[in-house]
Amino acid sequence: MNKRFENKSVLVTGAGSGIGRATALAFAAEGADLTLSDIDETHGRETEELIRRMGRRVTFVHADVARAVDCAAMVARAVDHFGALHVAFNNAGINLAPAPIVDVEESEWQRILATNLTGVFFCLKYEIAAMRRTGGGAIINTASVGGLIGTAGVTAYCATKHAVVGLTKSAALDHIGDGIRINAVCPGGTRTPMLSEWFERAPEVERAALAGTPIARMADPKEIAQTVLFLASDAASFMVGHALVVDGGLTAH
Ligand code: NAD
Repeated sequence: MNKRFENKSVLVTGAGSGIGRATALAFAAEGADLTLSDIDETHGRETEELIRRMGRRVTFVHADVARAVDCAAMVARAVDHFGALHVAFNNAGINLAPAPIVDVEESEWQRILATNLTGVFFCLKYEIAAMRRTGGGAIINTASVGGLIGTAGVTAYCATKHAVVGLTKSAALDHIGDGIRINAVCPGGTRTPMLSEWFERAPEVERAALAGTPIARMADPKEIAQTVLFLASDAASFMVGHALVVDGGLTAH
């Protein structure tokens, strides 16, 4: 197998579950050294163990991306352990229970902004500083199709993901001169615990999601992982500030 990430130091946030875990495993399969972080220590350590059993070098850091000090510590761990940071996947995120904006509590609004938007800002801030010191790298932020279109009942989430797309584009322009390529991935519905919990609470949302997805199924997290690896690889060397859609056709019509 072609190992595109041999001797590369890769950081993944939200690595304990879903898209983050699948992507961490995919990077490990292609030779990367992994720094994993998550607010959920139990599941983060499970991913760490899976990667250790693959024979790769790996370290887990308990970190809340909504805290600057945690993001700084997580980046410092990657650099201390592996000598540099070459690739970062800023993926940790949350959703709220579906509700029209009039029913969204201010505390919930602040909570989702802190994780999905401020979290990506903190990650970028410390990752870029580290990458600049060692000659560049590639960063991928997880946005969503919710970063490109609106969805009723998902206002706060869509607002944060639209903001992640804007943050990605502007940060990419700020730092392409440092040899750092910054892009976003915009998944459609993907079978992860986040989506399953949501569908359990509102089965009508699952029916609507499937009906609106031309490929007539949800993505496997591995399919999103492969897109992230592409964006991180030299094959995407001319991609800068792009929001790459992987959605089974959801936004094609
Ligand atoms: P998930 O819930 O399975 O995994 C998210 C992980 O992030 C969890 O391990 C969780 O503990 C961690 N996390 C949550 N808050 C955190 C914080 N403050 N600090 C650090 N870690 C934190 O969800 P997923 O579906 O794999 O989602 C991953 C990303 O993909 C999210 O940004 C999500 O918005 C995005 N996304 C998901 C879908 C989908 O359909 N599943 C679609 C588009 C975008």
